[in-house]
Amino acid sequence: MEIQTSAIPLQHITDAVTKKHEINLFVLRLDLNHPHISGNKLFKLKYNLEEARKQGKDTLVTFGGAFSNHIAATAAAGKEAGFKTIGIIRGEEHPELNPTLKFAANCGMQLHYVSRDDYRNKNILSFYKSLHLQISDCYLIPEGGSNELGIKGCKEILQNISVDFDFVCCACGTGATLAGIILSLKNNQKALGFQVLKGENYINKEVHTWLQTFKYVPKNNFKVEESYHFGGYSKVKPELTEFMKRFEKENNIPLDYIYTGKMMFGIYDLIEKGYFEKGKTIIAIHTGGLQGNAGFNKRFGYG
Ligand SMILES: *Cc1c(COP(=O)(O)O)cnc(C)c1O
Repeated sequence: MEIQTSAIPLQHITDAVTKKHEINLFVLRLDLNHPHISGNKLFKLKYNLEEARKQGKDTLVTFGGAFSNHIAATAAAGKEAGFKTIGIIRGEEHPELNPTLKFAANCGMQLHYVSRDDYRNKNILSFYKSLHLQISDCYLIPEGGSNELGIKGCKEILQNISVDFDFVCCACGTGATLAGIILSLKNNQKALGFQVLKGENYINKEVHTWLQTFKYVPKNNFKVEESYHFGGYSKVKPELTEFMKRFEKENNIPLDYIYTGKMMFGIYDLIEKGYFEKGKTIIAIHTGGLQGNAGFNKRFGYG
């Protein structure tokens, strides 16, 4: 699965806030990198699919919640690359599939529902057994596509960036994308991660562990912002949805509720607080996730 990183749009934002604070803000539109395998998930899948093929596997098995961007992306990538796909979904089966699962099923993904407890234990051998799968046919991709090969793919997100930047920002669920970005930084550059789940020092620790795996010693060149999760994963507040609407209207860039909305809110809050010096250049990575908005709007009545 080749990714044309040079074709990914880098959109310059010039609104009242960036002008007032003299900040050069760009949004790297990974949400536009593929019609169905959007955002960072395409980068995370790239080397995993290559490895699955190398190992002669014909089936991709993975995990996720019912609104998971990773489930949707894996289903579409499997269809495109000629793999069978199996999604093990956390929670109960509902009579009507939500838009994410409908999309995955339409791509040919077999969906299996497991209780939250079984999901947490992720006993893969017992899943294989109950689904009558041959281990030798299956390539396992962890939740979120977050493994070493996923991070290797994320190292390529910034490879064709045409502007010299000081900061790069991304939203963090597992921290794998942030780890890949850190691995690709130049000496004068810093990465900022925006944690979308509750938990003190959670992503920071995960990222340090990933960096160790790659034998990389961070040089004080990244920070995880922990105060923009709005109450936790998939939690929102009116302040956030209002910001997202305004941002989309002014800049013609849609954001998702779970990840990119929170990151962008955090970036603007930091700009307003004077966190970035005048004249600095920031790249905000739009990691995609827009497929999840349809289900979110339906479930929570936003939109
Ligand atoms: C999965 C996802 C993330 C989080 O990526 P991690 O590598 O798990 O931190 C961020 N943004 C979007 C839109 C995602 O789908």
